[in-house]
Amino acid sequence: MFHKFVNRYIIEGELVAATALHIGAAKDEFRPNGCKNPFFRNASGLPLIPGSSLKGAMRSFLEQYLSSEAGKEEIPKNIIYRSGICNEESPCIDLKAGGKLEEFFNSKKPDAPKKLSDYLFGAPGAKEKGKLCIVCRLFGSPYSAAKLSIRDARVIEKTFHREFEIRSGVAIDRNFGTSAIGKKFETEVVPEGTRFSFQAILENGDATEWKIVQQLIRAMELGLIPIGGMKSRGLGEMRIEGAKYQDINGNNIAEYLTGKIIEFQEL
Ligand SMILES: [Zn+2]
Repeated sequence: MFHKFVNRYIIEGELVAATALHIGAAKDEFRPNGCKNPFFRNASGLPLIPGSSLKGAMRSFLEQYLSSEAGKEEIPKNIIYRSGICNEESPCIDLKAGGKLEEFFNSKKPDAPKKLSDYLFGAPGAKEKGKLCIVCRLFGSPYSAAKLSIRDARVIEKTFHREFEIRSGVAIDRNFGTSAIGKKFETEVVPEGTRFSFQAILENGDATEWKIVQQLIRAMELGLIPIGGMKSRGLGEMRIEGAKYQDINGNNIAEYLTGKIIEFQEL
């Protein structure tokens, strides 16, 4: 299933900070201005939004959306994989399924990889549906790679003037509702209006997966998927602008590989 090329959708656009944005860096990272909560940077000191941060935000939005009444209608019932989505009470791979996976992994039979793939992803005409829900298929699970990959979003330099801003505040003690003594904090943010390049790639997506990915991009156009830290303080509202996509498939892959430019289409 994975080694065969079916299609690839390449989505590009610009992510615009509608409010200031904070993406936390590792604790032991260099702190250029002594700020305790520095912004994540690339090797040249420019702000960067790791693909994993974007992916995490998109995944949790999708989980909420697809568990809502409107979202439940989006996955057709006759699909070859689980039409509901997993949650703690009903994981895609429960203990029983985990045992079954182990059997496939330990099997020496030549058809074991195909059976494993059908078991996880489903196969047309099979008695049982594929175990993995659409969220796990798109964003990955401990048993399968993600079909949707999100690149690190690099800052568009002309929109960032090498100036981070510092937000300071007082940490509130959750139990007493008072400010904890000495718990003043400073957080580094990039200002509103800063732009980042966005790229996502859907590999071998079926029609339903592609529709769901387009809905995700739509939600990002509307600013419904906040990103990064301090969201409860109004930070991290991001919007995608100018989203467009390239559709690479069996009909144009040869041209694509010989360097012919495949036109982007509006999303
Ligand atoms: Zn799942």
